[in-house]
Amino acid sequence: MAIILDGNALAKRIRIHVKKRAILLPAPPELAVILVGNDPASQVYVDNKRKDCEKCGIISHVHHVDATLGEARLISLIHQLNTQSEISGILVQMPLPEGYNPQNVLHAISPEKDVDAFHPLTVGNFYLGSTPTFLPCTPAGVMELLDAYEIDPQGKHAVVVGASNIVGKPMATLLLARNATVTTCHIYTQNLASHTRNADILVVAVGKVNLITADMVKPSAVVIDIGINREGDTLRGDVDFEAVKKIASHITPVPGGVGPMTRAMLMRNTLNAALGRSRD
Ligand code: NAP
Repeated sequence: MAIILDGNALAKRIRIHVKKRAILLPAPPELAVILVGNDPASQVYVDNKRKDCEKCGIISHVHHVDATLGEARLISLIHQLNTQSEISGILVQMPLPEGYNPQNVLHAISPEKDVDAFHPLTVGNFYLGSTPTFLPCTPAGVMELLDAYEIDPQGKHAVVVGASNIVGKPMATLLLARNATVTTCHIYTQNLASHTRNADILVVAVGKVNLITADMVKPSAVVIDIGINREGDTLRGDVDFEAVKKIASHITPVPGGVGPMTRAMLMRNTLNAALGRSRD
């Protein structure tokens, strides 16, 4: 039976560490979160971030604006927050309602305050690996989990299923940076199982319930499920957890695995922004 990678417990330890360091600063870090419109899932995410900030000694400012605000005025708000020295980090909750170009909005955030790590300068620095930069929260959270359970990617075959800019691609980059041999799969990958069955570390970030079944997993593989799928009031990942946990060596649950780690990494990025450096 697999060891369950406990994201809740590790995220709590990280929040305590962030709080201990935040308290030592002359002024607490401040995170500005902009929520545009009334998407219920986004409202839950923003509220969770607000609660995380409270636990970490970070002041949060939620700017909940109407979907009719418009891109120009949203960008003006971001510019205003860029100039406020007490604001350490700025985050715009995605997805934005129709009529907004997310690229234009994300590009308006000052790179020094880009705690979600979506600005092209941040992304460029991240891929070059040469300049300290904010790390994208979800892939960074996965690496923290691997480290906490002493799972070393070096020399392992890591297969990442999903190739989005915010999760799959940076996940593959971080695993490569830790000397894994990385395969990235996506919607056009033929015979997905032939790839996943070769994975020592299998990371899944697609958004499809039960995409990964037990017959697609190599015995004793490490399985990281990033997917979040809502089924009524319950959350499910992309992996058939009950069946796969019987053959994997380690597995993340959904909820309680990668999700809390993503949020903890946002807190760490915000602390680092306040410290005036982008990497802990
Ligand atoms: P996304 O932008 O929709 O990307 C999904 C990726 O999966 C795309 O690269 C897509 O390929 C690929 N894909 C789709 N169907 C596939 C299939 N049948 N086989 C293989 N690949 C397939 O989603 P995302 O933002 O990366 O998020 C992925 C999942 O992670 C979602 O469930 C999201 O809710 C979750 N998520 C969780 C956290 C967390 O903290 N736990 C954070 C962020 C996201 P193409 O590129 O070729 O279309």
